[in-house]
Amino acid sequence: MMGERTVAQEALFYEFSLERHVPADHLLRSIDRFVDLSELREELRPYYSEVGRPSIDPELMIRMLIIGYTQGIRSERRLCEEVHLNLAYRWFCRLGLDGAVADHSTFSKNRHGRFRDSDLLRRLFETTVERCMAEGLVGGEGFAVDASLINADANRQRGHTELPSDASGRAVREYLEVLDDAAFGSATPVAPKAVSPVDPAARWTAARGGPAEFCYATNYLIDLGHAVIVDVEATTAVRQAEVTAAKRMIERAHDRFGLWPEKLAADTGYGSAEMLGWLVHEKGIEPHIPVFDKSARTDGTFSRDEFSYDAKRDIYLCPGGTPMRTSGTPVNNGTTLIYRASKHACSSCALKVRCCPKEPQRKVPRSIHESARDLARDLSKTDAWLVSRRERKKVEMSFAHLKRILKLDRLRLRGPCGARDEFHLAAAAQNLRKMAKLIGSPKPIVV
Ligand code: SF4
Repeated sequence: MMGERTVAQEALFYEFSLERHVPADHLLRSIDRFVDLSELREELRPYYSEVGRPSIDPELMIRMLIIGYTQGIRSERRLCEEVHLNLAYRWFCRLGLDGAVADHSTFSKNRHGRFRDSDLLRRLFETTVERCMAEGLVGGEGFAVDASLINADANRQRGHTELPSDASGRAVREYLEVLDDAAFGSATPVAPKAVSPVDPAARWTAARGGPAEFCYATNYLIDLGHAVIVDVEATTAVRQAEVTAAKRMIERAHDRFGLWPEKLAADTGYGSAEMLGWLVHEKGIEPHIPVFDKSARTDGTFSRDEFSYDAKRDIYLCPGGTPMRTSGTPVNNGTTLIYRASKHACSSCALKVRCCPKEPQRKVPRSIHESARDLARDLSKTDAWLVSRRERKKVEMSFAHLKRILKLDRLRLRGPCGARDEFHLAAAAQNLRKMAKLIGSPKPIVV
């Protein structure tokens, strides 16, 4: 017999508990254990007036943002609707069944105003790192660094060869403010082929191999143990800016959290002589990074690795056994020393056709950071290197998670500050999800 639902709704009072309706294994319930906003609330206090109508509770807005970024809902309008309708979201926001949800315009206003002025989202991210450390998820022995390109909210068809004189708005103001920043405007003297009038700090790049797009780069510094993100930085999408970001993040992780890794794993993009020299000589960090080396020759003549360096005497020995000396004066902006064999020795050498057939003598350039490059080359022959190379993939997996699960493959906010806000929130969400996954929930008490 076909059943029929009784739809009488005459009950006047219902007993309903949000607590009972949110499943014990719901992601937000797990995340909630690691969210403590009491300190942030105090830090925000100076940005609110002492008099007047009470504002929307900032904790409500931060909790809504956490929901948005952990659940891949980045539209503010949609987030407000979802929090209004979803019981678990209401529970996480401490709204009860009838609590009012902030209007999306109030939400945007706070996000671009007080939150940005107080650097709240940076602090929110840092609280997640501190909590990961307190939970024992950050070993601090080894870090990995990498960057990933994220499309800007800028139409690729509307690029100009230079910024139009009538371009205005918040993103344009922010672009002008970061023109001298090594992570943005002064990262490279090369002018991009196109500039977006709505977000000029976004870089026109085809680095991903497909058609060129306007992009920002999100830079992650992760701990190799559990792939906790210990720092994040927004930069323009060029390699020089990403190397600058890596240095900033390593120093900031030390200043903020007292973390100092013994080794850093990264790809060849971070293997320039200058970066390796900085890591080894200034910071004492082992570079588990392939050396960026273009010295191999393909014309059949001797490559540089066929000349051996004698550190004691500061000379190179050529394949014919002739010593090559330097004048000691660096060239190339003070970065390279040139070692030369004597013209006399080369002119009478039987190996000249395989060494320097078109020149009177052979020269060998040596970076002033060559000892750091040599250390990286020696490390690349060890078992520890193979482990680091495998562990380095964790940072790439974090980016894959960011784009596929958190759906941050295109920014919604414009300008360097918008990119920074979104990257901080996404990294905080990833750390919270990591803690929720790695640290099991306490078993519910059965009465
Ligand atoms: S040509 Fe000069 S540098 Fe080259 S092997 Fe002969 S002596 Fe050495």
